[in-house]
Amino acid sequence: MIEVSEWKHERERMVEEQIVKRGVKDTRVIQAMKKVPRHLFIDKTYYHQAYNDYPLPIGQSQTISQPYMVASMTELLELKGDERVLEIGTGSGYQTAILALLCSKVYSVERISELTKKARLTLEQLGFSNINLIVRDGSLGWPEFAPYNGIIVTAGAPEIPDALIEQLANNGRMTIPVGNEACQTLNYVEKHKGRIYRKEFFGCAFVPLVGKGGWK
Ligand code: SAM
Repeated sequence: MIEVSEWKHERERMVEEQIVKRGVKDTRVIQAMKKVPRHLFIDKTYYHQAYNDYPLPIGQSQTISQPYMVASMTELLELKGDERVLEIGTGSGYQTAILALLCSKVYSVERISELTKKARLTLEQLGFSNINLIVRDGSLGWPEFAPYNGIIVTAGAPEIPDALIEQLANNGRMTIPVGNEACQTLNYVEKHKGRIYRKEFFGCAFVPLVGKGGWK
């Protein structure tokens, strides 16, 4: 990824105050969050808010997630560098960029083509070459490239879609908000020898996962 010096000070302050102080410890995640220029994933009119502690609009009634949520969900995947990761809900491409710095290949699915188009342009301009994007219903995963060592869902689901459980590799990890359309609980899943181990973390509020394995 190319280095972007604009808003560097604000980016570092965001990481220290919103992410490190709240308990995120993975140094690779912390470095990635310091590096990726969140402002380039949103409209210019929001640049001055880019490093604040909340989601922001990205068009099509969708949002770029809160930086702390991006960092926490990424940390749960415990990426070391050689994994293949599936992301559902490309949105702006910001979370995609963070993942791409931490694993070998990212496969990211978005249902709204206008968002994928914009995200692709931003990610290309930043010089990423280990990201595959596609427009389709991500609640069905991306079976052609399965299994994945990590799966991250950045939209709220009524339940964990079966297709995503199937596409998770042995010893793989998944994070996904599960609940109703307004608020959810961040769920964490591990798969060992075909068995699923599930844990609930904190409350969150994501836009709905719309599709066959999500909200109709
Ligand atoms: N990760 C994004 C980012 O960093 O900007 C934030 C994503 S936004 C909170 C959730 C995204 O999930 C939206 O762009 C929405 O269109 C997408 N989405 C919802 N249902 C989907 C589905 N079934 N398949 C793929 N994407 C979906």
